[in-house]
Amino acid sequence: MTHSDYDLTTLAARSGEEARPNASVPLAEPIYQSTVYAYPDLDALEESMSGRQPSSFYYRNGTPNAGTLERALAVLENTEAALVAASGMAAISAALLGVLKAGDHIITDARVYGVSYALLAEEFPRLGIETSFVDACNLDEVEAAIKANTKVIHVESLTNPLLTVPDVPALAELAHRHGAVLSVDNTFASPAVFRPADHGADLVTHSVSKYLSGHSTAFGGVACGRADLIALARTRLLRLGGTISAFDAWMTMQGLKTLGLRMRAHSGNAQAVADVLSNHPRVSRVYHPGLSSHPQFVRAAELFPHGFGGMLSADIDDAPGFVKALAGKIPLAPSLADVQSTLSWPWGTSHRALSEQERRRLGITPGLLRISIGIEDVNDILSDLEGALG
Ligand SMILES: *Cc1c(COP(=O)(O)O)cnc(C)c1O
Repeated sequence: MTHSDYDLTTLAARSGEEARPNASVPLAEPIYQSTVYAYPDLDALEESMSGRQPSSFYYRNGTPNAGTLERALAVLENTEAALVAASGMAAISAALLGVLKAGDHIITDARVYGVSYALLAEEFPRLGIETSFVDACNLDEVEAAIKANTKVIHVESLTNPLLTVPDVPALAELAHRHGAVLSVDNTFASPAVFRPADHGADLVTHSVSKYLSGHSTAFGGVACGRADLIALARTRLLRLGGTISAFDAWMTMQGLKTLGLRMRAHSGNAQAVADVLSNHPRVSRVYHPGLSSHPQFVRAAELFPHGFGGMLSADIDDAPGFVKALAGKIPLAPSLADVQSTLSWPWGTSHRALSEQERRRLGITPGLLRISIGIEDVNDILSDLEGALG
């Protein structure tokens, strides 16, 4: 293609892409920033559209980068299929709406992530879906909430911020006995710590901006699970339009490659910090599944044999002074799972919409800080924290 064939306007629009060298392939996948795909003829298009020869077609239906991330996450969560989405909430919404329709009922843990709570408490009822909130660690309470139209039980494998651990195998058995599916938000654990599908869960969701990508640089979500459930979720997501960007899928793949190494470091460091803080006079209580004081300590050790991830919470005397003393070392940033340690304040962020009485009933006090322990050298983390405690 030269200037003798075409006008400059045409060359500018077409050149380069038509003859990409392909004797070798890039070792790392490139970012496919193309909104549409070209086919050599109608037969090839027909093969693609009919699903006989699946291939990328249009960005909203999924880029090659999204497909690569889906294959990786289905492998890591040990499920038949996966669907990536623009956010954790897009993935959770699509996964649940894949199963639920007007007249159906869903049961969830009252401690779920705030926006999941709002989705169930405020959005689903507008669609004619009934919701019940229970303590998912109390199996009798979950069973008592089951009705003839219950289609889903949705819980988190490790809750925010007190890190309770529901009995996923027992909840799966209960759901299946009543013809319902068990959906588990596995964001706080990651598949390096816990794989819900290995314990009977039918759907497993994540915000990939947390541990899966791990560097606070990529945004997206995923639902993993049985192929039939993921196909239903995919139809919902395509129509609601929650496609992940190629760049965020690609960035998540970069983070995912070190998930195993990072989670080993997060888990070891958090256990060490939990042990030290629980013996400090300025700390009245530490919440971490690896402490014998944790209400589900025995269950957590059975379900998570290789460590509990990087999250812990602590009730600290003079929390404002502690946060200030950590400035420039451990930042106050209301998310989690970065490679560097961060602090968050559930009273004033994730749980601020609740009344003071309701927050206290859930165990959320003004002095409770959630600490996302990073992969720094553990002695440095400990000396920063101990220095700030004085
Ligand atoms: C962050 C988070 C979500 C929501 O994910 P987004 O990507 O922010 O939409 C859902 N569940 C848990 C447990 C989370 O931490």
